[in-house]
Amino acid sequence: AKWVYTFGNGSAEGAADMRNLLGGKGANLAEMSALGLPVPPGFTITTEVCTWYYEHGQSYPETLKNAVAQALSTVGTATGRVFGDPDRPLLVSVRSGARVSMPGMMDTVLNLGLNDRTVEAIARETGDARFAYDSYRRFIQMYSDVVLGLDHHEFEEVLEDHKERNDLTLDTDITAEAWQGIIEKFKSLVEEELERPFPQDPQEQLWGAIGAVFSSWMTPRAVTYRRLHEIPGDWGTAVNVQAMVFGNMGERSATGVAFTRNPSTGENTLYGEFLVNAQGEDVVAGIRTPQDITEKARLEAGSSSASLEALMPEAFAEFQSYCSQLEKHYMDMQDLEFTIENGKLWMLQTRAGKRTAKAALKIAVDMVAEGLLSEEKAIGRVEPGALDQLLHPTIDPKAERDIVTTGLPASPGAASGAIVFSSDAAEEAKAAGRKTILVRVETSPEDIHGMHAAEGILTSRGGMTSHAAVVARGMGKPCVAGAGTLRIDYRNGVINVAGRQLKEGDTITIDGATGQVLTGEVAMLQPTLSGDFGILMGWADRVRRMKVRTNAETPQDAKVARDFGAEGIGLCRTEHMFFEGERIIAVREMILAETEAGRRDALAKLLPMQRKDFTELFEIMHGLPVTIRLLDPPLHEFLPKSDEELEEVAKAMGADADLLRDRALALEEFNPMLGHRGCRLLVSYPEIAEMQARAIFEAAAAAAKTTGAPVVPEIMVPLVGLKGELDLVRQSIDAMAEAVMAETGTTISFQVGTMVELPRAALKAAEIAQSAEFFSFGTNDLTQTTFGISRDDAASFLGTYQRRGIMEQDPFVSLDTDGVGELIQIATDRGRSSRPEIKLGICGEHGGDPSSIAFCESVGLDYVSCSAFRVPIARLAAAQSAL
Ligand code: ADP
Ligand code: MG
Ligand code: MG
Repeated sequence: AKWVYTFGNGSAEGAADMRNLLGGKGANLAEMSALGLPVPPGFTITTEVCTWYYEHGQSYPETLKNAVAQALSTVGTATGRVFGDPDRPLLVSVRSGARVSMPGMMDTVLNLGLNDRTVEAIARETGDARFAYDSYRRFIQMYSDVVLGLDHHEFEEVLEDHKERNDLTLDTDITAEAWQGIIEKFKSLVEEELERPFPQDPQEQLWGAIGAVFSSWMTPRAVTYRRLHEIPGDWGTAVNVQAMVFGNMGERSATGVAFTRNPSTGENTLYGEFLVNAQGEDVVAGIRTPQDITEKARLEAGSSSASLEALMPEAFAEFQSYCSQLEKHYMDMQDLEFTIENGKLWMLQTRAGKRTAKAALKIAVDMVAEGLLSEEKAIGRVEPGALDQLLHPTIDPKAERDIVTTGLPASPGAASGAIVFSSDAAEEAKAAGRKTILVRVETSPEDIHGMHAAEGILTSRGGMTSHAAVVARGMGKPCVAGAGTLRIDYRNGVINVAGRQLKEGDTITIDGATGQVLTGEVAMLQPTLSGDFGILMGWADRVRRMKVRTNAETPQDAKVARDFGAEGIGLCRTEHMFFEGERIIAVREMILAETEAGRRDALAKLLPMQRKDFTELFEIMHGLPVTIRLLDPPLHEFLPKSDEELEEVAKAMGADADLLRDRALALEEFNPMLGHRGCRLLVSYPEIAEMQARAIFEAAAAAAKTTGAPVVPEIMVPLVGLKGELDLVRQSIDAMAEAVMAETGTTISFQVGTMVELPRAALKAAEIAQSAEFFSFGTNDLTQTTFGISRDDAASFLGTYQRRGIMEQDPFVSLDTDGVGELIQIATDRGRSSRPEIKLGICGEHGGDPSSIAFCESVGLDYVSCSAFRVPIARLAAAQSAL
């Protein structure tokens, strides 16, 4: 096998597309070299050596030594030097480089090959002893730190001590002689700690550094990072060995980093920093304040230290030309590292630059205008999830953060307000014009009004798909969920957390993007949707195949979703409409009624309210499809909890409170989520479906009149497992349609379908499809019922599952395409086999998750439906998955 690839002098054995073998850094060094850019010559030891190393008890392939020696001599020839030579020594850097850049890997070692003899040669050759000894002491510091594992503080102390005693502030003020003294102290330090001298043999130094790079692949930090970012452990890292160039050779030398465009705004101007007479990480280490590269940036910053443009105009001009060459070549914004040695520019790294969502949008749109990118390519340049940043207020990155605790980032955006512990308190405060954060152990449907009234929601229990999280995302409200260290004491109105106490009324800020809970009111940045957003979305809409709908019940959510480009409602959860104001009393009447007549009385009160709700939704959607799910709450969510609530219902019904209490107790269930809910309720009490169907049809007739656009409601029967369940409910709906058409003298088209959320429904899809004109995959419940886990309780062990590698992702956040996905595939195939034109969609939380959306595209669903604020994300993700 070929273990080593060389580059330099306008050619290279590798190329940019060999990133898997050469790592990102090595592949791009090869590419730049082949493009003819000035890259110090060097070679890359491949990632396959890393794999071999771990498969063979941390040893090297036999032929590697030779290959490295060969490559070293090639580099020597290119530079006119010899590694370890006492007269013309070759010095190198040893740099790690995985396929993707990865913190936790070994830091770069510079100036390797220096020892007591070669340092003298360098001093003679350059006539600059200060430079030579400065380089040597840097090498000892770096090598001791990253290869020998000694504490770098001890070295810094020696240095600080010297500067203090001699009244010096800058490293560059230290003389050659002084450095020599310091180097002696460094060497004794090493010998004391390790009981052997600092290695003087360049070969030993080199192999020490190479071994350190490979070993760093398995450090706990690197392993943790890979787990968090789903990077496979067998990728391995490459090692780059490269001839040194020196930015610390005096006033005509410098080192710097740059982005070809501004990474935070996306503006098309070179953006970067440099330091004169400096090396490597000095720029980012904060030892001296770096200077701006361009004159424009310097003026904007009002800085008095000269720009690179002014100081070294020739090197700057050359650098600028490489920037545009590399951008054109890679068709992307680049992040660059360079060094200037005695006026000569050297390129040391290039890679695609990290950027904010705002910058990503602007760069993608600009690059299409500049002819660098096609629209299709541009669509792929913006990560859909990152759009969240643009749609919500965010905490000002410059603001100070006093973090109390961190929970799950359940719904994006940041908000500040006074702590309240109940939904009623949130509502009262809102009426009085005060902002609040609703803090609850967990929330339930009864908290909807409080969640609407509060600026944000904080819970101590529950996961990413807990009630609080789902509802907050739907409302576009910030939410931090499951902040487990909060001890919420409702009775005394306090929260105890990590030795601190927060009281009702105290102002806090929650950051739904990071899960942080902070004290006080923290400065925010308001979202602004730029023209670029609209342009990119327009391109996305042209290429995507799947439609994007929204999950919405309130007119407000529906309007927001329309503004974000929703093409209909994929899920209207009617039970959410029942918790508002006085309605809950009528709902409780209905549930607690002993007789059908009693139920019909209560339903008659609900009918006009439902009709009004649906009419409004239909009007807002203006002829777009609207899927309405019939009532689907676990019954217990509606039961009165307090005596006060019981008496309220008793009075409305003219019934005895004690009898009602007995009835309520009788209705309690052990497993409400698997209990008397969904179509089961509709089978027991057909009059509920009748009332809802009537409200839907009457609203459709009314809205068709006011808008002039025909309304085709899609009525969805929840939790079907048996075709017979659907047939029975369907009968009531069909009969009601006839009745309303006769009464109003209009014709109403409509569809009846079902939510597929039980494994049995997926398996029996062929049969069920005979009675269903559409399926909507309710993947929240389908995930629960397939795994047999509850999303409200799974958080307590899913974390462990992920850490131990049993499960890669939370299946409630990203669809389990293997298992739940197979059921979706089965239901799709079987449903189509008996009804080829069946309409298929997804309405679970996964409908707004980019990787789940890609799966929906692969199965060929007709649409995805998600909460209003995720509609833009879904539009972009659907487009990317169609390309
Ligand atoms: P990282 O991956 O942490 O960015 P690098 O391998 O890019 O580490 O090295 C960090 C810095 O060290 C570079 O930005 C550059 O300034 C310096 N450096 C690396 N190799 C050389 C070299 N051959 N000559 C001069 N400076 C170098
Ligand atoms: Mg680098
Ligand atoms: Mg469900």
